[in-house]
Amino acid sequence: MASLADAGLKFTTLPHPAPASDETREAVLANPGFGTNFTDHMVTIEWTEGQGWHDAQIGPRHPIALDPAASVLHYAQEIFEGLKAYKQADGSIALFRPEANAARFNRSAERLAMPTLPEDVFVEAVERLVQMDRAWIPDAEGASLYLRPFMIATEAFLGVRPAKSYKFIVIASPAGNYFKSGAPAVSIWVSEYTRAAPGGTGAAKCGGNYAASLVPQGEAIARGHDQVVFLDAAEHKWIEELGGMNLYFAFEDGTLLTPALTGTILAGITRDSLLTLAREEGLNVVEGRYSLDQWREDAASGKLVETFACGTAAVVTPVGRVAGRDGEFTIGSGGPGQLTQKLKNRLVAIQRGEADDTHGWIHTIA
Ligand SMILES: *Cc1c(COP(=O)(O)O)cnc(C)c1O
Repeated sequence: MASLADAGLKFTTLPHPAPASDETREAVLANPGFGTNFTDHMVTIEWTEGQGWHDAQIGPRHPIALDPAASVLHYAQEIFEGLKAYKQADGSIALFRPEANAARFNRSAERLAMPTLPEDVFVEAVERLVQMDRAWIPDAEGASLYLRPFMIATEAFLGVRPAKSYKFIVIASPAGNYFKSGAPAVSIWVSEYTRAAPGGTGAAKCGGNYAASLVPQGEAIARGHDQVVFLDAAEHKWIEELGGMNLYFAFEDGTLLTPALTGTILAGITRDSLLTLAREEGLNVVEGRYSLDQWREDAASGKLVETFACGTAAVVTPVGRVAGRDGEFTIGSGGPGQLTQKLKNRLVAIQRGEADDTHGWIHTIA
C-alpha cells in the first residue's frame, strides 16, 4: 500500500525546547532498568487513505491525542518492533539488523490490514531518533538504547474494517544489562493456554498477541516460574515459543534444533542470527518440530544437553527447569550451558563491534 508519494518523505526536525537536564539523564543512565525511562524525542509519521505517508516529524516526546472511537482502541489494529542501538567498541553507534525489523514490520502490517512503510523510511526514522538522542545511550557493558517503532489505527470509526488513517511512532528507552554477569537459567511453565493458532496472528508482532499472553504468563509466575512456554494449538504437543522469545534445543551429538516457522511462531531476528552463527560453529542446525514428551525424555536420558530462549531484549537466556501439569524436569545441570554461553558471546561481540561483522548485520549510524 506504500505509494509513490512516500518516496522522498522529508522529516521535519523540532529539537526539544527543554530536554532533560544532564543530571536527570545521568541519574537514569546510571540505572536504566527496562522500559520505564524514555528519551527526549520521538518520531511520528501520519498515513491517510489517498495520501499515503506524510508529515514525518522528529520532535519532543509528547502524549498523543486520540478520538475515543479510534479503531486501535476497539479492534486492536496495532503492530510493533523492538531493536537496540549499541555503543561500539570504537565509540561509534550502531543498530543491529534494522532492515530485518523493517521487513518484519511490513509483514505484520500486511497481516493486520495496515499500510506498509517503505523500509528505508523505517530505518531512517530509527536512525534519526538515535542520532537526536544519542546522549541517552548507556555506556555500561551490556546496556543499550531500546527502540520501539509501532503503528496504530487512528480513524474514529466503530465499524469493523481496516482504518483509513494510521500513525507510525518511534520512541526510545535506555536499557540496562538484563543480567549483570552470566545470565542465570530460568524456569518455565508449560501452559494449557495457546498463543497462536494455525491461520491466526502468531507470526505477526502485534499487541493483541501479548494481551492474550498475560494470563498464561501470570499463571507461570504464580506457580513460581519465570516464563511461560506455549505448545501448538492443534495438537497441544509441539513446542512453539515463549511469550516473547524463541527457543533452541542443543543435543549431545552436536545437533541444534529450533521450531520451524510454520506460521504460528514469531520469526525472531535473534533466532535467525543464531541459526547462522551456529552453522558457522559447525553444528548440525535443524529447523523442525520437537514435542514436549520428547523434550522430557531427552532431558532425562542426557541426549538433550541445553535449552535456551532468545530475543532482542535479553539476547540469550538459558532454560534450566521445565514444569507442567505432568510434573517437571531439569535440563543438564539446571544451570547455564556452555554452548548457550558461547553462542551468546559470539552474538554480543558482533552487536558491540568487538568481533568482525562478516554478515553485514551492523548498521553504523555515527
Ligand atoms: C519479538 C518476539 C520474539 C523475538 O524476536 P527478536 O527479533 O529476536 O527480538 C520472539 N517471539 C515473540 C512472540 C516476539 O514478539
